[in-house]
Formats: sequence, C-alpha cells, structure tokens
Amino acid sequence: MEVQLIILGPPGSGKGTYSMRLINDLKIVKISTGDIFRDMATRSDELGKQVAGMMKRGELIPDEIVLKIFDERMSQPDTKNGFILDGFPRTVPQAKELEKIVKIDAIIHIIAKNEILIEKISARRICSNASCDGNYNIADISRNIDGTEYILPPLMPKKEGMCDKCGNTLYQRSDDKPDVIASRLEVYEKQTKPLVDHYRDKIPFIDIHMNRPPEQIVEKILSEIKKLGI
Ligand code: ADP
Ligand code: ZN
Repeated sequence: MEVQLIILGPPGSGKGTYSMRLINDLKIVKISTGDIFRDMATRSDELGKQVAGMMKRGELIPDEIVLKIFDERMSQPDTKNGFILDGFPRTVPQAKELEKIVKIDAIIHIIAKNEILIEKISARRICSNASCDGNYNIADISRNIDGTEYILPPLMPKKEGMCDKCGNTLYQRSDDKPDVIASRLEVYEKQTKPLVDHYRDKIPFIDIHMNRPPEQIVEKILSEIKKLGI
C-alpha cells in the first residue's frame, strides 16, 4: 500500500516498535529522524559533535538542520512506495515545511501517561550494533492506574544484555537516563504536542492509547487505517 503516515507521540510511547511492525505489514519504509541523528552523533566532525551534545541533553535539533536531513532522506527512491515518519515532524515549523513537500494520509497519535513513559524509557535497551535494529524493554507494567487496566509486558532479550538478532551487547541510550527523560517529556509538551491541534481537523487522525502490548496496538492501527480506505 502506498500509504504516507506520521506516528506522533511522546518519547517512550513505542513509536519505533510499532512502526517497525507496520512497515512489514504495509510494505512501506520507516523514516526515523532520531535514528539518523544517532548515526550522525557517532561522527567526529563538528556537526556530529553538536548533534551528540543536543541529543544527550534531550534538546531538539534546530529545525534548519532537521529539515535538511529530512529532505535528503525523502529524495531517496525507496520513499516512493509509502512511508511512516517516526519522530518527524516535531515542531510546528517542521510540520509546515512537510506540508509543502508531501501529502500525509493519516496521523497515528499515541497517547500515554508520563508515569508509564518514564518507567518504559528507563527500561529501554538498544543493540550496540549500529546496523541492527534490536530494541528491548525490561519493564513489566501490568496494573490498574486511575481506573485503566495497563498490560505492557516486557520485551526481554533471550540472553541478558545481549541482542537476539546479532549477539552484540545491549546498552542504554544516554538520553534515556532519569534527568534527561524529564526534560524530553517537557520538550514534547511544549514543542511537539501543539501538532495534535495543528493536525486533528486537517488530516485523518487516529488516537491510540498505549495500554496494551505492541501487537494489539499495531492491529488496532491497521484496522483504523483500513477503515479510512486509503
Ligand atoms: P524519542 O521519541 O524517544 O525521544 P527519537 O529517537 O525520536 O526519540 O529522538 C531522539 C532525539 O533526536 C531527540 O531528543 C532530538 O534530540 C533528536 N530529534 C529526532 N528527531 C527530531 C526532530 N524531528 N526535530 C528535532 N530533533 C529531533
Ligand atoms: Zn543486534
């Protein structure tokens, strides 16, 4: 399906995990600006160092830089058969620029409580092999919070601290540490959440609550997309 989607939601809401599964079902590509910047941050040039610093502090990369790398990524031919944008746009100016380049068919908006996000982000473990997408989570959140039943099982590696896919060691992202998590959630509230109002009445908008395991969330997203008849 040549569908063009945005997945919008706070850090730790599982955007990367759901998109990874959606791209298999929908035969589209995932464009994650976070992944592109993490890669850039390993470079020893001036820009690489700057990006690494901003990410480490949980700050957003300036729109000008983001838009340049996004344009470059979008100009690659694999985006022609559909895509899901994960982590972009993240500011209103980014959204306005995006509107000039492509038409978006639907927005998938993940809703989650900060309490859950903090617990999930702290428990995230990533494969240290840059060419592997191994991603795990050791938090088991199964309880009732303010009248809502949460069933968020962990996604454990088979062997502790090691990636199932490639056997490399797992690590914790430097921006997944407690003090940085708090500022990332604040940045989301201030700079990214306004996109919800920006998009809600403009583009088909799918609200999904993060209170179920990824496979159920993905199923729900797929059925909502089908309903839209894109
Ligand atoms: P998360 O959604 O868990 O915060 P991402 O991998 O999407 O993680 O982003 C990690 C970091 O990369 C952000 O905190 C920010 O520094 C940078 N980043 C990614 N995408 C953007 C964007 N569209 N605009 C500005 N900064 C970005
Ligand atoms: Zn791996």
